[in-house]
Amino acid sequence: MAERIPLIAGNWKMYRTHQEAAELVRALIPRVADVSYCEVVVCPPFTALTTVAELLKGTRIALGAQDVYWKSEGAYTGEISPLMLKAVGCRYGIVGHSERRQHFGETNATVSSKIKALYDAGLIPIICVGERLEEREAGRTHEVVSRQIDECLDGLEEEKLAASVVAYEPVWAIGTGLTATPEQAQEVQAMIRGQVAALYKKQVADALRILYGGSVKPESIRALMAMPDIDGALVGGASLTVESFASIVHFA
Ligand code: PEP
Repeated sequence: MAERIPLIAGNWKMYRTHQEAAELVRALIPRVADVSYCEVVVCPPFTALTTVAELLKGTRIALGAQDVYWKSEGAYTGEISPLMLKAVGCRYGIVGHSERRQHFGETNATVSSKIKALYDAGLIPIICVGERLEEREAGRTHEVVSRQIDECLDGLEEEKLAASVVAYEPVWAIGTGLTATPEQAQEVQAMIRGQVAALYKKQVADALRILYGGSVKPESIRALMAMPDIDGALVGGASLTVESFASIVHFA
């Protein structure tokens, strides 16, 4: 089986001015400098990307954006293109986050366009999927997540998918303090890997990194990372303080 390098990504959401972001990342760099067993990524707001990119030069921490538009340029007021993200030094781009699905009309179809546009610009997508509470309670978790996977990955070439990152983020666990149990996350993430193996082939599924996201804390990371299909975490709230994010990164 292909070895999957764990990945811990911090999604700062709409928190931190560029000055505050600089302060946070300056403090974070020495705290994770010794980490070689996993990739560390920070995803600040757009306005802080350039500042943070400068500070990350020469470190092992990679930069990601929280969203992207699928055109390379044009009359799309307010949008940011994959080329612009690449030019400031991003390596990753989050797409399909549930907050974007809930408040900004993100759909599986727009996620699919964004994934392709990120690849065309040389960036790696972090593709978020996950069910809402009422969907879980109705026993529809597999149906909802597998449809998201199907539609978001539509038409994506296998080598691109193998290099991608999927984040399973049950909506009911995001920012609520409710973490899925390691077993609940493992169960869905194994389903996702099985689906990718069926849609593509086993080698692609084995290479794909699948993160868990939803109220991950220093206290919960170890048990999550012990699961065979959990390859890392997408961390929101707990990535905003150096103490908690560094201790999540030090899960091993
Ligand atoms: C997220 O924003 O992707 C997330 C998982 O947030 P939190 O860790 O705060 O639940």
